Amino acid sequence: MRHREVMQASLEKYAAARDRSRGAFQDYQGARQLAAERKWEAVNHLDKYLEELVAKLEARGTKVHWASTGEQAREIILGIVREKKARSFIKSKAMTSEEIHLNEALEKAGLTVVESDLGEFIMQLRHEPPYHIVFPSMHLTRGEIRELFEREKIGAASDNPEDLTMAARRVLREKYITADIGFTGANFAIAETGMVSITENEGNARLTAALPKTMITLVGIEKVLPKLADLALFLPLLAASGTGQPMTCYNTMYGGPRQPGEADGPEEYHAVLLDNRRTELLADIEQRDALHCIRCGACLNVCPIFRNVGGHTYGTTYSGPIGSVITPHLRGLQDWKHLSNASSLCGACTDTCPVKIDLAHHLLQNRRNAVRERPAFVWKWLFRGFSFVFTRPRLYRLVAPAGRLGQIVHPIVKGTALDPARSWTKSRDLPKVARQTFRDFWRHRRD
Ligand code: SF4
Repeated sequence: MRHREVMQASLEKYAAARDRSRGAFQDYQGARQLAAERKWEAVNHLDKYLEELVAKLEARGTKVHWASTGEQAREIILGIVREKKARSFIKSKAMTSEEIHLNEALEKAGLTVVESDLGEFIMQLRHEPPYHIVFPSMHLTRGEIRELFEREKIGAASDNPEDLTMAARRVLREKYITADIGFTGANFAIAETGMVSITENEGNARLTAALPKTMITLVGIEKVLPKLADLALFLPLLAASGTGQPMTCYNTMYGGPRQPGEADGPEEYHAVLLDNRRTELLADIEQRDALHCIRCGACLNVCPIFRNVGGHTYGTTYSGPIGSVITPHLRGLQDWKHLSNASSLCGACTDTCPVKIDLAHHLLQNRRNAVRERPAFVWKWLFRGFSFVFTRPRLYRLVAPAGRLGQIVHPIVKGTALDPARSWTKSRDLPKVARQTFRDFWRHRRD
């Protein structure tokens, strides 16, 4: 309940800022349409743009690795760690690293891993995954964060956000200087120039990239955009939908290791391109556009389910409507089909998505695919039965009183072995039975 209140309060502030920032576009709907078209171009010619990206990155001295699975990506990164004899690892925010469970693998290998994004840093101290793809610790109050810092001996003068930030900053500055490897995710990857674009508000990704001698970026292959000019559209679109800002504070491009004459940057730069079943989603013509997602989190913020149950309930890396659409593709439909049922299908996600992914329909398609793949015979025959009765008025009139009788008797057997719906009614009440059926009401009304 408290989580819900904290979340609702912060999402209300977010919604006001989001609407202001979207209002600053001359033609916001036109921008959405253009973004959807540019992502369509990128995703539907992914092979071409990935080759272009890799060629440009390698020409500048970047070591590019291809990872088909999360396990391969972990192995590649651990291989770099071993080669560099690294002991410490500093990370900026990257949902791809959550996806492949990188921290656990690095810690198991004996490394010290530090999350440098403030929200992620807080969640790491709590030993919990991020609560939201953009706001990792949005469910916590300032007081709770201060208590956490006290427990962890990170002194903060008060629970004022500035004091909390300064306290975390004092700890983190030291880590940037001593870390052997800096690790980042990517918001976009530009094929034309061979560069990775990172957008952030804390400057932590910049320090992560600039100070350690070795830098690794883990990039989902769907992050490719064809042209540098595309960023003029996508950076403000992501900022407006993600955090409600006209632009985020720091926007940086990385194209390779430090070049002769450059003042900072890593001596060695590795880009790991992650598939992890994205190509399977690409092969699904109906849902391919789920790869257009720019991970702004806007669909989570408007989803009535997410707003009530929160991010951890999903048990997945990507939560909310986009998580419910893509997780069955990334982790298996039968094990994760329930996510697509956890939706009111109100369509708020589809309406808000800045790249126009029709999330509500994709949720329906997942439901349909799950049933097609493994038909649920009981439901199938139950609904056939309903259909048979409901399309025959005489039969319906005969059977309807039995249904009414069942509703009246149900409270007596509720929760017992005689209750056929006990798993449903365990935590819910059936609606009260009306005194009169609609048919009776109508007949008497006409009399
Ligand atoms: S599906 Fe759309 S709204 Fe949801 S995170 Fe992705 S881009 Fe944002």
